[in-house]
Amino acid sequence: MRIGVLGGTFDPIHNAHLFVAEDARVRLGLDTVLVVPNGVPPHKKEYTVTPAEDRLRMVELAVKGRAHLRAEPMEVYREGPSYTADTLRALRDEHPGGEIVFITGADAVAEIGTWHEPEQVVRLCRLVAVSRPGMGLNDLKDRVPPELFPFIEVHTAPEIGISATMIRERVREGLPVCYLTPDAVVRYIEEHKLYRA
Ligand code: ATP
Ligand code: MG
Repeated sequence: MRIGVLGGTFDPIHNAHLFVAEDARVRLGLDTVLVVPNGVPPHKKEYTVTPAEDRLRMVELAVKGRAHLRAEPMEVYREGPSYTADTLRALRDEHPGGEIVFITGADAVAEIGTWHEPEQVVRLCRLVAVSRPGMGLNDLKDRVPPELFPFIEVHTAPEIGISATMIRERVREGLPVCYLTPDAVVRYIEEHKLYRA
């Protein structure tokens, strides 16, 4: 078994997340990709994060009917801040002998020096970084501590300029977000009045 893991805040999940997961699945020969929304984000955010239950529900709606994608709720139900190292250890216990491929955008992995136990993270998984607008893979080398950089496998993929920040701002401004995120997520945002001023 080769298991992909895409972690994040997913506030909300959007089509670039889904594309990154699917592209990695096919190109890296993954059996499945787990989408893992964090509970309490370990890094302080500059905005109020939507309750984890709502973010998880949107992930579940987005992956519904997609055979190779699964919502993994373990971080939402774990006490305290969500650390990638803990999640990777739990997944390795669940899938002994499986290969865990942790997929991140280049912007996220650029921060790896600030993660909890980064030297454990790179040993617990195969770490794949995907290019993202505004964060070229060349910028990575300058941002990542030199002892961690050799562990990062770089993947170039079509860059998609969608972010959850953009979706929250567009909703607040009354602009459309359909085609940026699945219809079921658009409906959830409307029904639960998320991201209004
Ligand atoms: P926010 O704007 O709130 O930070 P986001 O769009 O960056 O949201 P996250 O939940 O922070 O979404 O990201 C989860 C993971 O998906 C991270 O590894 C991030 O780098 C990656 N990711 C998100 N959007 C893209 C994108 N457009 N292209 C490539 N990777 C992405
Ligand atoms: Mg982000």
